[in-house]
Amino acid sequence: MTTYSAKVETHDVKERALVIILLGAPGSGKGTQSVEISHSFNLPHISTGDLFRENIKNQTEIGQKVKSYLDKGALVPDELVFDILFARISKADCSKGYILDGFPRTTLQAHKLEDLLSSSVHFAIFNLVVDDSAVIKRLSGRLVCKKCSRVFHKDSTPPKIEGVCDVCGEELYQRSDDNPEVIKERLRVYYEQTKPLEEYYKNKGQLTPINASGSPAEVLKTLKAKIQEMYPIL
Ligand SMILES: [Zn+2]
Repeated sequence: MTTYSAKVETHDVKERALVIILLGAPGSGKGTQSVEISHSFNLPHISTGDLFRENIKNQTEIGQKVKSYLDKGALVPDELVFDILFARISKADCSKGYILDGFPRTTLQAHKLEDLLSSSVHFAIFNLVVDDSAVIKRLSGRLVCKKCSRVFHKDSTPPKIEGVCDVCGEELYQRSDDNPEVIKERLRVYYEQTKPLEEYYKNKGQLTPINASGSPAEVLKTLKAKIQEMYPIL
């Protein structure tokens, strides 16, 4: 598995905000861990996808621009992504730090983020490492409620009655993209797209690998310990 390790330095975060970035394949638990870390350290969880949806819903000028790209099925240009992101991170609740979810996606974005922020923040970048076979097992066992969208898992969090939602009693189903063949393809695409980003941070000595094959609680414990080791003041 991964043998690289990031330079561990302790930092004083009194003056600089801490920007936590989580990298990880689909099924690595990146989304879950982002939310948990956000609660643990009381740092806002910022997802560019959520920001897009929020701005579109509120019909802001920037939201309308974003929508015009998404409606065409096109990628939202970096300039617009940065505008929307900077509007969010300049708010008062981000002064101590924040967690970026789903950003950056490319080395170009990572480089630009660094240019714009490195004089005022510390970056803590983690790679949630999990075996493909574990991801396939995790994702292919997922069951989703037709009505309330609650997620169960055949092995780890089964519903009380097979095939029935504990919360609302509706039928559970398996998402069509949660079958092993589709999951393998999603993983392949992920690695192809994000390998350069991983290399970029690795080469700069900024990437800390986290073994993410354990339970969500175990992974959270490891992540929290690492963050506290690097930033004892949090
Ligand atoms: Zn339900």
